[in-house]
Amino acid sequence: MLTTLKSYFGYNSFRPQQEEIITHLLSKKDALVLMPTGGGKSICFQIPALMQDGTAIVVSPLISLMKDQVENLQANGIAAAALNSNNTDSENLSIRYDCRMGHIKLLYISPEKLILESNALLKDMKKSLFAIDEAHCISQWGHDFRPEYTQLGQIRDLFPNIPIVALTATADKTTREDIIKQLNLNNPKIFISSFDRPNLSLDVKKDYNEKEKISTIIHFIDDHPRDSGIIYCMTRKTTEKVAMKLKKEGIIAGVYHAGLSALERNKIQEDFINDRIAIICATVAFGMGIDKSNVRWVIHYNLPKSIENFYQEIGRAGRDGLPSDTLLFYSLQDIITLTQFANETGQQSLNIDKLRLMQNYAESQVCRRRILLNYFGENSTCQCGNCDVCKKPPQIFDGTIIVQKALSAIMRTNEKIGVGCTIDILRGTYSSDVVQYQYDKLKTFGVGRDIPGRDWHNYMLQMLQMGFYEINYMEDKHIKITPLGKQVLYGEAKVNLVVIQREESILRKDKKKAIKVSTIITREEDDVLFEKLRELRKRLADEQGYPAYIVLSDKVLHLIATIKPKTIEAFGAISGIAEFKKQKYGASFVALILEHESK
Ligand code: ADP
Ligand code: ZN
Repeated sequence: MLTTLKSYFGYNSFRPQQEEIITHLLSKKDALVLMPTGGGKSICFQIPALMQDGTAIVVSPLISLMKDQVENLQANGIAAAALNSNNTDSENLSIRYDCRMGHIKLLYISPEKLILESNALLKDMKKSLFAIDEAHCISQWGHDFRPEYTQLGQIRDLFPNIPIVALTATADKTTREDIIKQLNLNNPKIFISSFDRPNLSLDVKKDYNEKEKISTIIHFIDDHPRDSGIIYCMTRKTTEKVAMKLKKEGIIAGVYHAGLSALERNKIQEDFINDRIAIICATVAFGMGIDKSNVRWVIHYNLPKSIENFYQEIGRAGRDGLPSDTLLFYSLQDIITLTQFANETGQQSLNIDKLRLMQNYAESQVCRRRILLNYFGENSTCQCGNCDVCKKPPQIFDGTIIVQKALSAIMRTNEKIGVGCTIDILRGTYSSDVVQYQYDKLKTFGVGRDIPGRDWHNYMLQMLQMGFYEINYMEDKHIKITPLGKQVLYGEAKVNLVVIQREESILRKDKKKAIKVSTIITREEDDVLFEKLRELRKRLADEQGYPAYIVLSDKVLHLIATIKPKTIEAFGAISGIAEFKKQKYGASFVALILEHESK
């Protein structure tokens, strides 16, 4: 197993669980594998595929995902192919022939195609195993349900002697059980790896307005020059707006959402993968097909609707294990909009619960990583040191009077106002509603003038979070005070609020520089050499029509710039460089290093 790992993938050791999973599959038994994005799921079925006769059949939901995996394998000299509707007839013909002849080690296939072929090609070829990638797509409880996956339940009956491994990065307990049931897995062993992604920094910014978000993003991008990143937005319109605002500042960002044609979407995605565009403003439609290992950051312009979504989306950063940054913006308006969406769905209470947990994460006053890990069932009491709460613990103060002012204003309107109007009353603003309903006559009119409007928004959010009021969505989003809120209003309970911290964007600059230096690698890396290596990699990639990271990952490139191998052997000894790549690229890279060193 180790020899196969080293010679085909260039790695010296297995990650936790990989070895056990491979051994299990080699003994022809079913398995369910839960591993975070970037955890190394693929190796778990690729090594058994390489070690056995016949072909491993890999089911994957998206053509782009297959393409990336097949390119990656081929770039390591492994016989892999994808059977899908994107191929020409003659391509498919020759793949079929190769499969029958047993020349292909891994065949990637879409679920529809697999069902179509189950009584044809699949019967005529020797199979080593079935791997169902992104297996949560089979479950309605997951967040990427795909009807075409449900038919995969037939495989177990059709091919009783071939082991099936289902793999996913996101599955809570319900989804997990559903996957096993729907795939008819035969007494599967369940492998759960730690979901921790310590290389991803976590940061939440609460209640920033649009202008503040944009300026924060601009500074963030300044600190990540040339790095690839994704900005997730809630709506199509927002993706376009954010891209436009960035453009005004001279930052080019592509836009991706379901409203674009397939052709346009494909082009943007390819441009991103091939480093022609560094930044994408996208809706959640973007990313499923992206296996790009060197995405260095992910920003959420709005709150995602669940922790699963959030974790999967930030998980697209740093798949190569290098430090990567994530930033989440979160506002009261997001909560209101998402609650409305959730109320309109079929599974209302489930979706509301998921949203509340997401909100708890954003509001957390304990280590954010701890919340994420607990969500995925890993009881943790960590202080990760790599999230904003750990770096800058929140401070609290007695906010009883502030809360009483707000609740009292609401009470005096007979609970007939929303958040915006509440703040207008508190601040003494003559808005149209205030004037129309004569709220300026209320005793509470203007009692909160000393607090800026944006801070009121923040406090209102905290109050919602603490359960002092609810928003009635059936009644024009009017605020209803809860029994808990009434206790505070009538002086029966005290309230602690969190001090609002708004760091100035300018301050962020130097702070960030310091963090940048602390890459995992301890030996000094040669920055000038790294740029030269990057250029060489890009040239080699363009020559072959591959994305750069398929030639060599960022991680490997950093290692080369640090170790500076001067022989082909030394080049091949670097972690991540397999035999095939050593032969193929060794000479070019070593020549470049020798030339660089002689200067
Ligand atoms: P997943 O499918 O779980 O998201 P991948 O299979 O794409 O993750 O693996 C993520 C990255 O980790 C890839 O670059 C892969 O080559 C690398 N990787 C996998 N296994 C190992 C290992 N044993 N040692 C070093 N790197 C590994
Ligand atoms: Zn932390």
